[in-house]
Amino acid sequence: TPLHLIRNFSIIAHIDHGKSTLADRLIEACGALTAREMKGQVLDSMELEQERGITIKAQTVRLTYPAKDGNIYTLNLMDTPGHVDFAYEVSRSLAACEGSLLVVDASQGVEAQTLANVYQAIEADHEIVPVLNKIDLPAAEPERVRNQIEEVVGIPADETVDISAKTGLNIEGVLEALVHRLPPPKGDAEAPLQALLVDSWYDTYLGVITLVRIKEGRVKKGDRIRMMQMGATYHVDQVGVFHPKMTPVDSLGPGEIGYINAAIKAVADCNVGDTITLDNRPAEKALPGFKPSVPVVWCGLFPINADDFEKLRNSLAKLRLNDASFHFEAETSAALGFGFRCGFLGLLHLEIIQERLSREFNLDLIATAPSVVYILHHSDGTVEELHNPADMPDLSQVAHIEEPWIKASIMVQDDYLGPVLTLCTERRGVQLDLTYVGNRAMAVYRLPLNEVVFDFYDRLKSLSRGYASFDYQMDGYEESNLVRISILVNHEPVDALSFVAHRSAAETRGRAICAKLKELIPRQLFKIAIQASIGSKVIARETLGAMSKDVTAKCYGGDISRKRKLLDKQKEGKKRMRQFGKVEIPQSAFLAALKMD
Ligand code: GDP
Ligand code: MG
Repeated sequence: TPLHLIRNFSIIAHIDHGKSTLADRLIEACGALTAREMKGQVLDSMELEQERGITIKAQTVRLTYPAKDGNIYTLNLMDTPGHVDFAYEVSRSLAACEGSLLVVDASQGVEAQTLANVYQAIEADHEIVPVLNKIDLPAAEPERVRNQIEEVVGIPADETVDISAKTGLNIEGVLEALVHRLPPPKGDAEAPLQALLVDSWYDTYLGVITLVRIKEGRVKKGDRIRMMQMGATYHVDQVGVFHPKMTPVDSLGPGEIGYINAAIKAVADCNVGDTITLDNRPAEKALPGFKPSVPVVWCGLFPINADDFEKLRNSLAKLRLNDASFHFEAETSAALGFGFRCGFLGLLHLEIIQERLSREFNLDLIATAPSVVYILHHSDGTVEELHNPADMPDLSQVAHIEEPWIKASIMVQDDYLGPVLTLCTERRGVQLDLTYVGNRAMAVYRLPLNEVVFDFYDRLKSLSRGYASFDYQMDGYEESNLVRISILVNHEPVDALSFVAHRSAAETRGRAICAKLKELIPRQLFKIAIQASIGSKVIARETLGAMSKDVTAKCYGGDISRKRKLLDKQKEGKKRMRQFGKVEIPQSAFLAALKMD
């Protein structure tokens, strides 16, 4: 396709505003799939994505659109994930396009991620076409939302396209706006190849597939390509486009988005953001890449059944093939046995991986409490990252500790603002800004990430009856008064339950977890102490009384068959118990204690 007939665009929106539905309508309108093939949302292909209605990986489709001006245009659409955890993937998709469709729900208006996405699109130099969706809803207020977009996003109200992605109303309006308002890509087919590596994943039949945006030059089957950062070279087996099915083409030229399949062994060899060039005629310079994605939340995953350890390792390795932002390393815990310390982009990412392990790989797992990455400055001057609270050395060897902070934007109805501000203050938040958009307030806070992974999002949702929206970005590290709280059962530390907290919250959280464990640990023949401590200093204590005489009696008296049944049951239960000195703790107690509320 000649350059002037190509348009590359992303769809950006707050979650649930109708991005994926619109993508499906566009695919349908351009006849890329037959009605039979259009079942459900085409782009949200992973089972979990469909079920939860979220998009995790950015997906892409090439469409052909005969416009009213008589030209036939090639449109490359990139769907983007809508959740904060995956903001990183949004920026990748944007780098591959010249423009964005900004979808806003006409009954909801501008939300936290609408703004976050718009700022990213502006940063990527995008032309933005605002689309007001769901105007079929009786609660839609297109006039109000149009003005809101003008006021906060700065896009003139008369430039919005009103649609219903659900009923298909005015989809043509969107296509015409794309063709006439977005700029065509630039590039020179004769120049040395510069292809931006946008994403890569593992396909069971074809091996590693890379998604690329060609900026300059041309690539075809048989070429020898070179990854400019990694230095490795590969023979190209196939190049193609997504229709959305993978379809081979002769070559990919400037402005085009497609895939290269080149006998690459591992996804890890494809650095997202790298520039692909030709080995025999390399480009002089690499394209500006992306910042690498770093996991910000870590937790331990342990198989409930110790025999599942190898299966867990294999499953994690498989997930990692398609998700370079997910990390794992082996870990041992006295309480939970052999498992893995795993790193995630955020809490949703963690939940998704956990759910996939249980669903697709049939694994029963215990997850330890999520923790952020701390930076330890040792007294001897060395600096170290801490991924696991259990590895925290004695504070006497630590000069100081730094913790990660975030900058969070929260949008909420005026009525719920009070409790939301209180929550932020309780979590050590510092207010940076408070403004209004109609009757919605937008509060900008700096918060320690540690306080956010600890049930912040759930609290926010319940305080605002589900109406608050939330977005955040990392905002550096700061020295902080942090302590490691150990939990001791019968004077033995239980490593899986130790956690890091700000000194001011240590007592409250220590007390809560001790009280909970007292409920969860079965009584023993003797009294046991359940304690929370900082170093050798006990900060909270509960005592679990001994089993009373008549309860023990039941196990001994009575008829033989009943007694045998009881013993069998106990044996079964033993498998799920962990020994702590003289005390056995059921796995279920860990599970419940780790699920703080
Ligand atoms: P995404 O999270 O932005 O991808 O949003 P989805 O496309 O998954 O849509 C979220 C929900 O809104 C789904 O239940 C859709 O059926 C619904 N929806 C999308 N577009 C419209 C629309 O134009 N009108 C109405 N009434 N519902 C819509
Ligand atoms: Mg979606």
